[in-house]
Amino acid sequence: MVTIHPLISPWGRFGLYSFYIDAPEPAIVDTGIASSPSDGMAPALEALGRRIEDVRWILLTHGHIDHVGGARALWELTGRQAKVVIHEADAHLLRSRRAHVQQYVDVRQQYLHDPEGVEKQTRTADGAISGEMEPSVLVRGGETLSLGGDVTVSVHAIPGHTAGSVAYVVDGQDDVFVGDAVQVHGAANGFPGYEDPRAYRASLEHLRDVRPRHLYLGHPYRTADGVPYGVELDRDQARQALQGSLDVEARVADAASRYLRDGVRETDSPYSPFARVAEELGYTGDPTLEPSPFFTTLHGYKELHDHG
Ligand SMILES: [Zn+2]
Repeated sequence: MVTIHPLISPWGRFGLYSFYIDAPEPAIVDTGIASSPSDGMAPALEALGRRIEDVRWILLTHGHIDHVGGARALWELTGRQAKVVIHEADAHLLRSRRAHVQQYVDVRQQYLHDPEGVEKQTRTADGAISGEMEPSVLVRGGETLSLGGDVTVSVHAIPGHTAGSVAYVVDGQDDVFVGDAVQVHGAANGFPGYEDPRAYRASLEHLRDVRPRHLYLGHPYRTADGVPYGVELDRDQARQALQGSLDVEARVADAASRYLRDGVRETDSPYSPFARVAEELGYTGDPTLEPSPFFTTLHGYKELHDHG
């Protein structure tokens, strides 16, 4: 059995979570932002009697800024020894700061109408990403990575939150790292965020079949009452979180499809053009607060409706 330790770094209203896999070739799952490796991970590892320079694997669950931002800095701290792993569909987000701004321009900008939006996104990408880099290992799902001794990790493709989201499963002990692929009711913004609703649902069903013994999440996601789950769920909590995520997706899908059938309407509401969906779902959070999961997710349903 290999031991897993959560490593926490603060970022504004969010706590950023990485996980240390204490294998012969130690691994860190997700890297927070630029400052996280030196300010959050290094002291936390030292307290465990481990050294950040000994880390040999950097396993990225997906390309979002708060997961890949610290990758370059962490890789440098390992003397460039660690292998950096990411799914090929999210690799551009590791290679390029501009790709994060482009993602905003392609989807959220058309709903947020913020004249300074691009400037703000550029500033965030510059500050939160420690450096652009080429991944060492590109995965698509189905690979097995050897962390030394008899410790292996399987890669499962679980697209939906992003196209290149993956789960890392520690073989033989069913510890599963999913990043942001299990959203329940969403994190701080109170709405679940996923780019591709159909893929998101299929990935949740896949994870349910994996039956995680422990499920490790990228953020403390919320229950229906707004109470945050921890980021380390046991088997029962994992089952609940997966079923809960499927139930929430079904509700959002139902509200979105009825509304989209009638045609979207621009209004003065901050939820425009999806004001009726927010109303029906009882969503009262601020939809403009980045990363704006409300617009990312409803844009996904609109794409499905418009293009099948
Ligand atoms: Zn994410």
